[in-house]
Amino acid sequence: MSISIERLEENLRQLRLVETAKELANILKDAERKSLTYRELILKLTSYELQKRDEKNIARLLNWARFPYLKTLNEFDLSKQQSLTKRQLKELEELSWLEQMFNIILLGPPGAGKTHLAIGIGLEAIQKGFQVAFVTMGDLVYMLKNEEYVKSSQVRLKRIRKTDLLIIDDLMYMAMDQREANFLFHLINHLYEKSSIILTSNKSPEQWTELIGDEGITTAILDRLLHRVEVINLNNDSYRMKHRESIFNN
Ligand code: ADP
Ligand code: MG
Repeated sequence: MSISIERLEENLRQLRLVETAKELANILKDAERKSLTYRELILKLTSYELQKRDEKNIARLLNWARFPYLKTLNEFDLSKQQSLTKRQLKELEELSWLEQMFNIILLGPPGAGKTHLAIGIGLEAIQKGFQVAFVTMGDLVYMLKNEEYVKSSQVRLKRIRKTDLLIIDDLMYMAMDQREANFLFHLINHLYEKSSIILTSNKSPEQWTELIGDEGITTAILDRLLHRVEVINLNNDSYRMKHRESIFNN
């Protein structure tokens, strides 16, 4: 009995093996050419679907993360940032801190590589299947303040609240009023012991009090953030300054 390819494709589609359905003709042709055994063929079909699902999942996670640009940890040059050791970088990359829901605070002046590192770690986490969200402090405060009225803020905050890793870039870039600080506290409290947070800042936690204003709220925020945290101090060597383009020839 000859079985039409269309019928097989239809069955695969009903089983929601959509990618395999699309590729079935090629896979079968290849199997005939190579005289695959039944087992080899089944392995090939199922592996194909699984691989496609992985790829789609990573693409979706990347889309959700909203990184401002993509730079990997491999592209981070340790010889240009000597305050980070090879071992520290490896530990960041291995993500056991994320599984244990530790937070990371990356401190250092502008150009020290904070945002690059945070994105690199985020990409690594996505490769391992974690949900990641990247947001600047400014955007985060804006969204929290407007959540009630702005649909896009609602959607994004919903994701942020259930993410495995939240990257807040440039914390305390601007001074916050009490209402804003309150919103931030509620978010940090919600994520506490459920997710990891990476914060980048050019101000040290001691200086955060001045910027947040209200001492009670600052203490409450710091309490949660610093409970399980790794603080990494990047030094003054501004990569940006060294590699800036110049219109002068020295
Ligand atoms: P920060 O967030 O600390 O102000 P960035 O991470 O934005 O600094 O770094 C500024 C630019 O310099 C980015 O393009 C980044 O990729 C690059 N950069 C900084 N440090 C390094 C480094 N050690 N190796 C490679 N590129 C770096
Ligand atoms: Mg930055």
